[in-house]
Amino acid sequence: MQKGKLIIFSAPSGSGKTTLVHHLLSHPELNLAFSISAASREKRPNEINGKDYYFITPDDFKEKIDKGEFIEWEEVYKNNFYGTLRSEVERLLQAGKNVIFDIDVKGGLNIKKQFPDNSLAIFVQPPSINALKKRLQGRQTETPEKIKIRIDKANEEMKYAQDFDVILVNDNLEKAKKEAYQIVSGFINQPE
Ligand code: ADP
Ligand code: 5GP
Repeated sequence: MQKGKLIIFSAPSGSGKTTLVHHLLSHPELNLAFSISAASREKRPNEINGKDYYFITPDDFKEKIDKGEFIEWEEVYKNNFYGTLRSEVERLLQAGKNVIFDIDVKGGLNIKKQFPDNSLAIFVQPPSINALKKRLQGRQTETPEKIKIRIDKANEEMKYAQDFDVILVNDNLEKAKKEAYQIVSGFINQPE
């Protein structure tokens, strides 16, 4: 059986990685399954527990860290923990899937380092910080203070772009979707 591939999408918040990941998941021929992360932040109204994230309390999150249940985890924002559960990735690989991740820049590079042979790390780059700000405002899911925190962090995260296998600029969304599809299908269909 062919070993499943790991496709990592990382980028500053608001770059469009969730949009691109959902687009790829709508193509059954890619045989992708989304790695549902655990998160300690509050659920947004449009999110579903067990689909977008496993929403857990900060105490439960810390217990899972102590038990070694995460492949990687980060305190992405102060008191907001996010992590990839080993059980989740194993479950999807066992089901014969390629696994797609939407995780922060440090977590993405961490997974790439642990799985160098079968992973592809893609950095989604916004056309500018200003465009990022506009997208976050347009998404209407964060308060102005939280948007500021995300923008400040984005300036830091952009410095890691060069460490990824591919930089995908998300300016025109339709073009970025096509490019994402080509990159991912090329990697998945590449012989081992
Ligand atoms: P992320 O997952 O990286 O935080 P999202 O996928 O949630 O980002 O996208 C942030 C917002 O920007 C969403 O409202 C989305 O619809 C919008 N968006 C995504 N790509 C583009 C694009 N190329 N041009 C304009 N808006 C976009
Ligand atoms: P959001 O709160 O917008 O859903 O996500 C905030 C950030 O956390 C995003 O950059 C997202 O990709 C990242 N993230 C989500 N899940 C994980 C994870 O399991 N591990 C890490 N390191 N980051 C994650």
